[in-house]
Amino acid sequence: MTIETNSIDILKAAVNRLAEGYQHLPAHQVDYDEDKARDVLMQVAESMWDNYPYPHPQYAGQMLKPPHPVARMAYQLAQWINPNNHALDGGKASSALEKQAVAKIAQMFGWQEYLGHLTSGGTFANLEALWIANQIHPGKTILASKQAHYTHSRICGVLQIPYQAVDVDEQARMDMDALERLLNNHDVGTVVVTLGTTGVGSVDPLARILQLQQQYGFRIHVDSAYGGYYKLAQNLGNNAALAFGAIAAVDSIVVDPHKHGLQPYGCGCVLFKDPSVGRYYKHDSPYTYFSSDELHLGEISLECSRAGAAAVALWATMEVLPLHEGGQFARDLQACRGAALDLYGRLQADGRFITPLEPELDIVIWAPKGATTSAISALSQRTFEMAEVRELHLATFSFPSALIKQAYPEVQVDSEMTVCMRSCLMKADHQQWMDPIWAILDEVQNNLS
Ligand SMILES: *Cc1c(COP(=O)(O)O)cnc(C)c1O
Repeated sequence: MTIETNSIDILKAAVNRLAEGYQHLPAHQVDYDEDKARDVLMQVAESMWDNYPYPHPQYAGQMLKPPHPVARMAYQLAQWINPNNHALDGGKASSALEKQAVAKIAQMFGWQEYLGHLTSGGTFANLEALWIANQIHPGKTILASKQAHYTHSRICGVLQIPYQAVDVDEQARMDMDALERLLNNHDVGTVVVTLGTTGVGSVDPLARILQLQQQYGFRIHVDSAYGGYYKLAQNLGNNAALAFGAIAAVDSIVVDPHKHGLQPYGCGCVLFKDPSVGRYYKHDSPYTYFSSDELHLGEISLECSRAGAAAVALWATMEVLPLHEGGQFARDLQACRGAALDLYGRLQADGRFITPLEPELDIVIWAPKGATTSAISALSQRTFEMAEVRELHLATFSFPSALIKQAYPEVQVDSEMTVCMRSCLMKADHQQWMDPIWAILDEVQNNLS
């Protein structure tokens, strides 16, 4: 793998430019032992060898995507100042950039008016959305599908909100009959709709849930931490296109720039359609300095300190790759889905595999054929290990055996869950790399039996 280093020259020029703005101050240098620092950094570099090669296209496993070089550079550049976007005093310039960046994300979802900000990640963004949901419908049940992110039930535990999981249909989407049954039997305040489940990338049928909302009057929170940017893609299937097309009608949305938005970790985003929910955040901490009449981000965020650098990195990335339909960023996402459809097509056409789900976004689930679900699980585990030796890095995923049985009635179910292979094809380059990836998969499969 070749690690890109030209960006270091660009970064150095930018750091010098940054320094120009502070030259008028009396000279002051940070003092540290450079030799020691160099030694330690060499140790760090070597200790990083013990990672899978996440930026390389032959890493096609978990939900990991390398940050864009400009995001990396902008993040590091901001570190020479280390702004804190809790308050304007701590991060004046970076707070302005955060507001611009968040406005562009809101615009992507069709919102001109909204309240929103960045968070440390999707979990905290969802926590804020469910906390607001519970302020508006105190004590009422929150529903999310069985394929929703595991943190929703945990967040509800932390916030002491009643929580119920809704069954999924054979496509791993929230089942509408199961949802209606729960709506009839519980005092439901909010339904969490996942557009892009973390496990398999399934998209809940938002348009139909919006129809039920007319009748039952619940709040809708969309968790699209992973899938949100697919709003821009023009190669979605019917269900996903309908769901993303309806997204502007919901009450709150979470999207993670550190998932598909090319950002380093530490960047989630929560948006509320009704800006007046800001009233629930009101606090008057003696530490929160009000140096301006302008609303500052610490007043509309549950977290206190937040990395201004994350906002700077996101803003810079969107200058290079704006969130436009048909633009480079959108085309790269389409290529990810293209890669997933390519791999799915090859697996389906080949008699040696089972493919229980057609990918809705860019996650592919499959397994080697086997007579029983426990045999399939064992074969998947061996595929994982044998591919790793050949430098193809995949992931495994526990899939409900009942859904395997629906797709493949001949399979004997002898375990509740079946271990399958899972591949998140989140790099645009994955599309061009499908031949070498397939060659390894083919070889592994030939040596499996
Ligand atoms: C990743 C993810 C989360 C959690 O977000 P973090 O950024 O990992 O905290 C929540 N929901 C969905 C759908 C996700 O994909």
